[in-house]
Amino acid sequence: MKVSVIGSGYVGSVTAACFAEVGHEVICVDIDRKKTEQINAGIPPIYEEGLGELLRKYAGKRLIATTDYEFAVNETDISFICVGTPSAEDGSIDLSIVRAAAASIGAAMEKKNSYHVVVVKSTVVPETTEKFVLPILEETSGKKAGKDFGVAMNPEFLREGKAVHDFIHPDKIIVGSIDRRSGDLVSELYRIFECEITRTGLATAEMIKYANNSLLATKISFSNEIGNICKKLGIDTYEVMEAVGRDFRISPKFLNSGAGFGGSCFPKDVKALIGKAKAIGYSPVLLESVIAVNERQPLLMTEILQRKIGDLTGKKIAVLGLAFKNETDDIRESRSIPVIAELLRLEAQVSAYDPMATENMKRIFPAIEYCEKAADALKDADACLVMTEWDEFRNLDSEFREMKEKIVIDGRRIIKAKDVDYEGLCW
Ligand code: NAD
Repeated sequence: MKVSVIGSGYVGSVTAACFAEVGHEVICVDIDRKKTEQINAGIPPIYEEGLGELLRKYAGKRLIATTDYEFAVNETDISFICVGTPSAEDGSIDLSIVRAAAASIGAAMEKKNSYHVVVVKSTVVPETTEKFVLPILEETSGKKAGKDFGVAMNPEFLREGKAVHDFIHPDKIIVGSIDRRSGDLVSELYRIFECEITRTGLATAEMIKYANNSLLATKISFSNEIGNICKKLGIDTYEVMEAVGRDFRISPKFLNSGAGFGGSCFPKDVKALIGKAKAIGYSPVLLESVIAVNERQPLLMTEILQRKIGDLTGKKIAVLGLAFKNETDDIRESRSIPVIAELLRLEAQVSAYDPMATENMKRIFPAIEYCEKAADALKDADACLVMTEWDEFRNLDSEFREMKEKIVIDGRRIIKAKDVDYEGLCW
């Protein structure tokens, strides 16, 4: 089949490359010309394991990238909207990028004579596809949804860092649609994947994504709450949650306590659902607590630090890990951001190291010291805060000997070194 993928970020570039891998012809559309040039040259616009390989294999063959919507819509049967849906100032969903993408698709559909299906893959709050995207498409194309074109909603569940694997081996595929014809075409595209396809209405598909992410975020904040209580009682929360996770009704996943969740999805999606709930007159107390625990959690790192070394003015603090999790260069909502901001507010000197995310973090904190190795960040440091669970941090040992004071505060329970003044965040 012929597919256009609108937006070439984490979701779009992976979706495009994976659709090409399973045999479809794909056209990527992005307003960022640099990204389209990179894709056409077989260079991934973001870091994601296995993505480079796929782009090198298919770029210029059954995968091409362009900034031209008209060409992409005209040449394909289906368009997937994969643009960002960031948080607005008040935490609710900002749909301005979706609006722009939908208007551009609609304008391109106006000139197309055959049936086309528009699929929203971006995470959008319930009712957005039907009440926001569909009217824009009708208005800009001058055509009728359900008659001249189809509309569907197909949420994405991939994990950054394992995105290619997750896309090719999904554990669920949800296809919401306004009518059978739209849903059939999208399902046809996924037929090759060995996974059951769940067909729903548009709003149900949208809600499944939010319920999914909110539950995962709740498990993390719950584990952090238990961890904080355990620490005060001198109980090892990892021992507790390991046992809790053996209950088959719970599962052991997402029960590790630490510095909290970040990334482009969990914080934004929980806040967006809170915003939607309030807009329809419901007070989502549990979801608000999930966010409150998550915002407090990283600052417990600097509280411990101050308890251990007092005034931070002029102290050199090594921050190990900038990405929101390991195996990605993504720093969006990374828990290291509030920690570094707090360290700077307290007038500490920050030396930071991350195997992949340094360039991205330079845009937020241009003036801190960035190091090429963990050892350089640790040299002469008064203390070290571990913020991301990168595997290479597990083996750090002799590097800590170069510190002025060997104080290590671990936000991810990853440090194994013996000869240090170690304190876990909530264990
Ligand atoms: P992103 O910011 O990495 O990528 C968005 C891309 O869209 C960028 O390349 C940008 O240049 C492009 N763009 C912006 N305006 C455009 C326009 N008018 N036309 C065409 N392209 C345009 O975003 P992302 O992380 O890929 O997320 C996309 C959506 O998928 C979001 O709704 C997100 O919540 C959801 N999602 C993300 C993940 C994830 O792990 N990142 C997982 C599941 C779902």
